[in-house]
Amino acid sequence: MTDKKLIGVDLGGTTIKFAILTDKGEIQQKWSIETNILSDGQLIIPDIIDSINHHIEMYGMTSDQFDGIGLGSPGTIDHENGTIKGAYNLNWTDSVYPVRDIEKGTGLPVTIENDANVAALGERWQGAGNNAKDVVFVTLGTGVGGGIILNGQLVQGANGAAGEIGHVTVDPNGFMCTCGKRGCLETIASATGIVRVARDRASEYAGSSELKAMLDDGQDISAKDVFDLAKENDDLAMIVADYVCESLGFVLGNIANTLNPKYVVIGGGVSAAGDFLLNKVDAAMRKNEFATIKASTELRLASLGNGAGVIGAASLIKVD
Ligand SMILES: [Zn+2]
Repeated sequence: MTDKKLIGVDLGGTTIKFAILTDKGEIQQKWSIETNILSDGQLIIPDIIDSINHHIEMYGMTSDQFDGIGLGSPGTIDHENGTIKGAYNLNWTDSVYPVRDIEKGTGLPVTIENDANVAALGERWQGAGNNAKDVVFVTLGTGVGGGIILNGQLVQGANGAAGEIGHVTVDPNGFMCTCGKRGCLETIASATGIVRVARDRASEYAGSSELKAMLDDGQDISAKDVFDLAKENDDLAMIVADYVCESLGFVLGNIANTLNPKYVVIGGGVSAAGDFLLNKVDAAMRKNEFATIKASTELRLASLGNGAGVIGAASLIKVD
């Protein structure tokens, strides 16, 4: 135990969120800056350093009042070299060294982790995960990300890519995924995937549906439109929502069969569909689980919203 503070940084493609937290996970200060992806993203790390130093000074604090900085970033984390690969939405093409550079720039120890893993840690610590030892987190946003905590430890995998639930294959003959493979969960249950499924089903649909009329009219639709219409019993929207939730329940049920977590937590923008989504996924998940799992693994909605990132990032440097 220590009474020192933690700094959590959630690096995203449009904003960088920061928070100063107690070692109990209470946010004391928070702020954010725009992510400047110009010049191959080479300004991002200097911006993070300046913002942290500026705020520490502004709050009349000094660096020795902190245990360190935790950073959540898109991409695959190379823990050995303290670098990140595949963070395409940050425009990083050359190797970047956030651990080395931010430690040098702030004088504080730095730990990095993938953004979905960090959100998983945040939900586990202060959110729907209820600090359980075994928690699986899936985030449904532009893509589908995931994080797995087993026995209180984040599962990183041999190459830092464990917990990529979005790339579990649902349909080997399905839509092409950005990863180069077909039929990944991400092609169905992400915000973009849901719209793609809607367009695909609409092309073969001949009944009466407002969603069908919107698509035929050339309107842009969103995943939210699909779920809002499904809640009103729109026939095509219901077909799409059922397929999305069946696919999610299939994957999450099988993950539960493998890991028997206490909680499976659904977060990300699509989870704003709330209990309607939760109940459908839960029913599909139960169909795919064996009895012991049904009795002991619970599906929940995330509770921290977009605050999960900074909280989970800060937990990376928490001293127990
Ligand atoms: Zn994929």
